[in-house]
Amino acid sequence: MTRVALVTGGTRGIGAAISKALKAAGYKVAASYAGNDSAAEKFKNETGIPVYKWDVSSFDACAEGVKKVEAELGPVDVLVNNAGITRDGAFHKMTLEQWNAVINTNLGSLFNMTRQVIEGMRNRKFGRVINISSINGQKGQFGQVNYSAAKAGDIGFTKALALENARGGITVNAICPGYINTEMVQAVPKDVLEKAILPLIPCNRLGEAEEIARAVVFLAGDDAGYITGSTLTINGGQYMV
Ligand code: NDP
Repeated sequence: MTRVALVTGGTRGIGAAISKALKAAGYKVAASYAGNDSAAEKFKNETGIPVYKWDVSSFDACAEGVKKVEAELGPVDVLVNNAGITRDGAFHKMTLEQWNAVINTNLGSLFNMTRQVIEGMRNRKFGRVINISSINGQKGQFGQVNYSAAKAGDIGFTKALALENARGGITVNAICPGYINTEMVQAVPKDVLEKAILPLIPCNRLGEAEEIARAVVFLAGDDAGYITGSTLTINGGQYMV
């Protein structure tokens, strides 16, 4: 039986690598995105993976989007909550808009998306929910009170949901990437990256999106059923928990 995997933010960066790796591992994959149509189109043409546009910070949009994916591909067995944004700024200057955007996209989306699929997973007695958190949710980060709060929230969400569903064949895990070479990190000024970030990474390089994707495929497997509620740290040794 071919399992269906849905990757939010699955058309660019880490999500695109996850979508491709799941497809290569034999899954029927759907990749969602927010608004970058040209990147999504390019991704679709290159990979043959169908793409779906909706905003994961909207519960109703998620309900509609998941319904469409399930009608076209079948019930979702593997949900990868990967979509995320940053809106950085020192907290004493942070606007309510910056706070809400980051909390709703990086944390609210876990409710909005997972709520759509969890009942089906429970009925079918199989499911994999994999949440892409961040090193900055584990250790905090200057200028990212909003992002660190959301990503730490993702870890709490993971643990509680894992407890509620452990008997039902459903696992829920979080991955905390360190600095991965995507557009999100390429937006950091080069001198900040070279002088302030790389010296903190024992592996002395950025991670690659494929290195996160590899862990997702591992956690998604039918034979990973005893791993639940865990937080997998993939950060080149930058922060050890
Ligand atoms: P990118 O900015 O490269 O890609 C983000 C993806 O998420 C895009 O496909 C984007 O869609 C989608 N997205 C953003 N907002 C929404 C939304 N509201 N609704 C639906 N889709 C949305 O990000 P990365 O690949 O760098 O990051 C992926 C995840 O990994 C994020 O959760 C991030 O926080 C986390 N992470 C990243 C790290 C890094 O070093 N890069 C480190 C630690 C964690 P569109 O293309 O339409 O904009």
